[in-house]
Amino acid sequence: MATSVNPADITPRQVANKSDKKALLQALRMTLGVQSAAIRHNTQTFNNNRYAAIARLPDYNELKDRARQIKENAIANLPELLRQLEASVRANGGHFYLAKTAADANQYIRDVLVRHEVKLVVKGKSITSEETKLNHALEAAGIRVAESDLAEFILQVADEQPSHIVAPALHYSRERITALFKRKFHTDLPLDTGEELTKFARDILREQFIAADAGISGANLIAADSGSIMLVESEGNIRMTTTLPPVHIAIAGIEKVVPSRKDFGTFIELLPRSGTGQPLTSYVSILHPPLKAPTFAAPGKEPAKTREFHMVLIDNGRSRMREDPVLHEALYCIRCSACLNSCANFETVGGHAFGGETYSGGIGGSWEAGTGTLMNARFSELCTACSRCVPNCPVRIDIPWLNENLRQRMNHAQGASPGKFLFGEMTGSAPQDSVAPLQKQFFGNYNNFGKWGTRFASLANASIHMPGARSMMQSVFGVDSRRSLPPFPKKTWEQLYREERDGKQSTLKPGLVMLADVFTNYGAPERGMAAIRVLRAIGLDVVLSPAMSDGRAAMSQGMIDTATREARAIAPMLRRYLDEGRKIVVLEPSSLAMLRRDFKHLLDDDDTQKRLAQNSFEPLEYLWQVAQEQQTNLAQKFPASKCPHGTRLFYHSHCQQRTCNSAAQTIEVLRAAGFDVVTSSVECCGMAGSFGYKREYYELSMAVGEDLFAQVRRADQEGGPRTLVASGISCHEQLLAGMGREVFHPAELLASTLA
Ligand code: SF4
Ligand code: SF4
Repeated sequence: MATSVNPADITPRQVANKSDKKALLQALRMTLGVQSAAIRHNTQTFNNNRYAAIARLPDYNELKDRARQIKENAIANLPELLRQLEASVRANGGHFYLAKTAADANQYIRDVLVRHEVKLVVKGKSITSEETKLNHALEAAGIRVAESDLAEFILQVADEQPSHIVAPALHYSRERITALFKRKFHTDLPLDTGEELTKFARDILREQFIAADAGISGANLIAADSGSIMLVESEGNIRMTTTLPPVHIAIAGIEKVVPSRKDFGTFIELLPRSGTGQPLTSYVSILHPPLKAPTFAAPGKEPAKTREFHMVLIDNGRSRMREDPVLHEALYCIRCSACLNSCANFETVGGHAFGGETYSGGIGGSWEAGTGTLMNARFSELCTACSRCVPNCPVRIDIPWLNENLRQRMNHAQGASPGKFLFGEMTGSAPQDSVAPLQKQFFGNYNNFGKWGTRFASLANASIHMPGARSMMQSVFGVDSRRSLPPFPKKTWEQLYREERDGKQSTLKPGLVMLADVFTNYGAPERGMAAIRVLRAIGLDVVLSPAMSDGRAAMSQGMIDTATREARAIAPMLRRYLDEGRKIVVLEPSSLAMLRRDFKHLLDDDDTQKRLAQNSFEPLEYLWQVAQEQQTNLAQKFPASKCPHGTRLFYHSHCQQRTCNSAAQTIEVLRAAGFDVVTSSVECCGMAGSFGYKREYYELSMAVGEDLFAQVRRADQEGGPRTLVASGISCHEQLLAGMGREVFHPAELLASTLA
């Protein structure tokens, strides 16, 4: 991320289009330098509010299922729904226009406004109009556009694009808004509070509402059977935009159409809760335009005799997305922003870095690629596939899977070269993935580097410290030289396991197989052995599988063919253990997530996939289950007082472990053993597998980690430093880098009490 540009000199518009990677790196620099504090505060507030709001919703999962079903059916039947909607709008007395492209939509709207001799149009928040760049098109025709949403008003004054799909000016602190208004409006008014700023903007906007000849709104949903529009907002400006002027134009993407007004209810329940954590927004309007009520007229002006309504739906690539085997899922998105607010990278840099010209966050890449070009989605590189957004999406979109596919397409778009091909041959890439950049093939084939690194551990560890070795790794493979690389162990987990035969008789059934995941096998074999000892200590029969790659490393680099090949090789091996009656235990949470979640994309055998998903466990998750069933006294079995590392712990669970719902059990086990446990509350530590090793993203990774480090420091303040405990290998590396202290796996602590 080396660049000499001062972050304060970079404007968001300069870096909106990130098809050139330099723009992405500059955007990271700008957002980390200028916007990060406000973004963190605002997204984390939304995220915490959302967790609280969802917890109070007893039928959350049923609502999500219903929402998904409605959207799946609507997109499947879209051509029919569009025909039905057109008839409904026309029957209501409105006009209907289906625009193929953004330019068509702009042209139609401009023509309507010119016909009505409109000089000023008020506009409610509409991301679709950002996509079509409507404001620029209207202004070029001499029509003034007044953004009536407060955040959009701020951005119009600042000439910036939105950084968030629900709260477009979320990257602005109150102080920056005050400075902006004072600079642009040359006012001496005290604008030091939110109330003063809002009143100032409202006085300006009121005049615009009174003077406007037309209003433009978006639409959250549109009912095909009645032509009704659902609009959800907090400020009341959309209600005024759609009801005061005599001409109302609603612009929306075709994916907003659902069969019936009855479908709105499910989304009214989910949308505000998922976005800002509110049970309901201040205004929910269900309009059935054109309205029958008389129009508003400013004093001294005649009210218009009739109202006119135009519904402008845009395709602009959506029909192509609908046919796309992967991207069609993005059409289910209801733009709630939960995936933005629950994403640690987004929480740190927001949509001016983790976003394109219009769409932002994890889902934004699919939208930019679908409505623009593939390379417009380059910012989706910031998706680490941590999966924290997945359980939080109200329509159950598998956002990391979409981004992994975009990455694969971008790998292919960059083309082949003899060097890449040769490297792929040497390191084990599938032929189709040998086009991927060297950095991706390096991280995606960790399995083979681990194998050779441990086989010649002394040589490999010594050569990393040779002069020039790290700068060579940085320039060829993009491994940031500021990151310490964990040394290769002299013996793999498989070797340690063969050497340590346990004589104890197991009594509990079923038996277990521990998957020798490649990360533990070549990176932390002693943690693997600790887990085996702990599970055997409660009487379980544990064997270790051969070490094989599960495809995680390759998949995270967009090397989906390599990942598929690996998944299809490991699955039959694991299935044989299931056939013997064993359950599968997986130490590395990202590998557990492969078996539980991601194999559904890679395996062609549904039965095996389901069996693997249902019968795989995290070690302490399984231990807790057995301890409950057997009423095991964990304080006697693993007395915390005997732990040489102390009883006061700070525990950080892995992002994918939480998505798999297997994190809380670790805390239960540790507490039941007598440990005093403080837990982290971050979505992700920022390391996220290979992400934190990459030269371009090192600063972002450490900036994300800062929230975790701050939580450790706060916990340390009462009673002195706590022992650091984490379940994921990359979380260990991040905590070690940030805190400079030894980090343990929970199983290592429990095993230490057995001595
Ligand atoms: S998978 Fe993680 S990094 Fe990717 S968009 Fe979701 S929360 Fe963000
Ligand atoms: S992808 Fe899901 S979570 Fe993200 S904005 Fe769309 S509906 Fe909301």
